Amino acid sequence: MKIRVLGCHGGELPKYRTTSFLINKRILLDAGSVTGVLGLKEQLALEHVILTHAHADHSRDTLFLADNIIGAGGKGFTMYGLPSVVTDVRQHLLNWHIWPDFTELPDKNNPVITMNAVENGKTVVMDGMEVTLCTVDHTVPAAGIILDDGKASVVFSSDTAPTDRLWKLASEKNNLKAVFIECSYPDGQEHLARLSKHLTPALVRSEIKKIGKDVPVYIYHVKPQFYRQILHELKQLHIKHMEAVKLNQVITL
Ligand SMILES: [Zn+2]
Ligand SMILES: [Zn+2]
Repeated sequence: MKIRVLGCHGGELPKYRTTSFLINKRILLDAGSVTGVLGLKEQLALEHVILTHAHADHSRDTLFLADNIIGAGGKGFTMYGLPSVVTDVRQHLLNWHIWPDFTELPDKNNPVITMNAVENGKTVVMDGMEVTLCTVDHTVPAAGIILDDGKASVVFSSDTAPTDRLWKLASEKNNLKAVFIECSYPDGQEHLARLSKHLTPALVRSEIKKIGKDVPVYIYHVKPQFYRQILHELKQLHIKHMEAVKLNQVITL
């Protein structure tokens, strides 16, 4: 499994891009930064787009991706998310006001975007990969994602406050090779992290303990304005095999 980091920050500034991971060539996990990073050919190769939740920093580039695909005559993609995430995207983004409804374009029988609502705890198979959604604790419905290609599995936390079920599922994976966990605020802003349902370095440490396994940990969704502070605090935790992912990094599992 190849994971390419298209965007890995919890906000946008020059040199900081919102969250998006390319899994092999056909699967996209979150769509915060896609169309400004991938070339058109790479965009047309995408077949599956998984959204952890509907927040704009994770969903917005599905809009521009759909527009690029229809313009280039591509065959489009399936969008996966919790039922309420799919509903939110339909009602609030693809509503003909914010953006055209690409689930009906170029025509209803052959749309650019096909919606696939996945219930909490359910697994879908795409491109030879088992993908499981597990609800986490954010300000809106959000799911952590477990990818398993048979040889390796990897867990993405999504945006979340402290959570349990996802880490239990992670601990049960015999082929667990990596965990991607968000860390949005420094310890001094824990009140803000709690309010917006995100993690700080100290909270990340207690989340990792729940897995009960020594696996590589990749930090993402760091807020650009706190970047140095958060990285400094993470370093002070002295956790082995933990690093903050970087833009354009490719991780092979
Ligand atoms: Zn976010
Ligand atoms: Zn969010």
